Amino acid sequence: MNQKTKYIFVTGGVLSSLGKGITSSSIATLLKHSNFEVSILKIDPYINLDPGTMSPLEHGEVFVTQDGAETDLDIGHYERFLDKNLSRENNFTTGQVYLSVIEKERRGEYLGKTIQIVPHIVDEIKQRIRSVGQQSDFLVVEIGGTVGDMESMPYLEAIRQMKQDLGDQRVLNIHVTLVPYIKTAEELKTKPTQHSVQELRRIGINPQIIVARSEKPLTQELKQKIALSCGIANDSVIVAEDAKSIYQVPLNFLQEDILTPIARNFAMPPFSPNMQEWGALVQKIIAPKQSVKIGFVGKYLTLKESYKSLTEALIHAGANLDTKIEIQWIDSQDLEKGSLDTLHQVDGILIPGGFGERGIEGKIKAIEFARVHQIPFLGICLGMQLSLIEFARNVLGIKDATSSEFDPQTPSPIIYMIEDFIDQEGCQQIRTHTSPLGGTMRLGEYECHLKENSKLKSAYHQAPTAKERHRHRYEANPKYRQMLENAGMIISGESDGLIEAVELQDHPWFVAVQFHPEFTSRLQSPNPIILEFVKQSLKQ
Ligand code: GLN
Repeated sequence: MNQKTKYIFVTGGVLSSLGKGITSSSIATLLKHSNFEVSILKIDPYINLDPGTMSPLEHGEVFVTQDGAETDLDIGHYERFLDKNLSRENNFTTGQVYLSVIEKERRGEYLGKTIQIVPHIVDEIKQRIRSVGQQSDFLVVEIGGTVGDMESMPYLEAIRQMKQDLGDQRVLNIHVTLVPYIKTAEELKTKPTQHSVQELRRIGINPQIIVARSEKPLTQELKQKIALSCGIANDSVIVAEDAKSIYQVPLNFLQEDILTPIARNFAMPPFSPNMQEWGALVQKIIAPKQSVKIGFVGKYLTLKESYKSLTEALIHAGANLDTKIEIQWIDSQDLEKGSLDTLHQVDGILIPGGFGERGIEGKIKAIEFARVHQIPFLGICLGMQLSLIEFARNVLGIKDATSSEFDPQTPSPIIYMIEDFIDQEGCQQIRTHTSPLGGTMRLGEYECHLKENSKLKSAYHQAPTAKERHRHRYEANPKYRQMLENAGMIISGESDGLIEAVELQDHPWFVAVQFHPEFTSRLQSPNPIILEFVKQSLKQ
């Protein structure tokens, strides 16, 4: 246990979507590359216990950790930047805090006291923060929401108290704000930042560093104005101009010399991070040699954040192949209306995960197109399930083949409920989580055994197994296995008797997987399947 963990709290002001997640990830990355043990925590001030039940269109992607927690998409950014597996402890919500306080109260742990926000809720928050930090030199904590929101109050009180508990040299407050550019006046405005810092100070928090988001560079004069009005050192106003790639942000922060005020606050000698390899990859994202066009057939296209990990994983593969990934967004429902023209223009076709019936027929058309026209294809989760359905319908001739997700009474359930599998096969090892919406979810990491001489195994450099993460309620039905295999579908990945991956014999590269390879992809170690898919698409 590290008794001297240092805490960096990142709050946000003025408005949401300023990139607190990327700011926190970038700071953590610079510290990690300076050879410190770094961990990171996201606190979400909403009442839901986790984002698992929220619509992707409401909240963006649900990121799944190795240990099977359904978390905020910022946890995905943290893992991708830090190249580290995090766990359910690295994200908590107001709902979880209240639930555990109420459960303790029911067990009589508060010895008859009246339970209040101060001290009980605030103490619970502090204790959770300290427990995540205990193994690390630094813990970066991102407080979701915006200063001034009612929901954030207990968290701000907790971090105020932590400074008092631990002293100035173990706690640093960084405030991310916006410096808007007013076109008509041709001026950058600092007033919102000043107000936001005043609001923080009213609560008793004095930030030591301001990260000012801006679409234009700030003059030295303007930086000094912010420093003076916010009561911080001149070198502690860090400008975060809009970057070409999120992975450039740590490099920009380094250039703005953010590490000097950080080290000074903790009374530590200067840090010297090694960002060379990182910088070289970022260069390939910004100025790639070649490009490839990937057809991304989805249905949550009004909020592309729903596919965050997958679009990032494509960027990682691109960076490592010095290739720009041009995503051609294709709404699956548009394919249902008739024309498949867009599919002719792409080098590879990708079907991501998804829930519910809307848009599935369009995805099945795209799969058929990729299969028949020999276009590199990757199907993920729902994308694999639909690949089996397409094959069953169009190759095996089972015209009514479907998933019991779309028709619970279907006589041809190529895809069926996990519980049915557990019941029929008596297979008890399947670790599942009961979903509050009913049904059983298979969540988190499982080991998948890879078939000899398969495209999948070759993507994983001939490793015998691969560990990847799951999030689904339905499974391929083993009853159809023999028929699929006889007709040329290869079961290339398995775990506990479950079909985890398939591919096609007579096709240059058609691979579909039940797990989500995108969750383990990082800038410095892209996921092998996604990397191979992009490589194959480049050959097109
Ligand atoms: N809806 C499917 C299932 O629950 C697929 C889920 C997914 O793609 N993540 O099994």
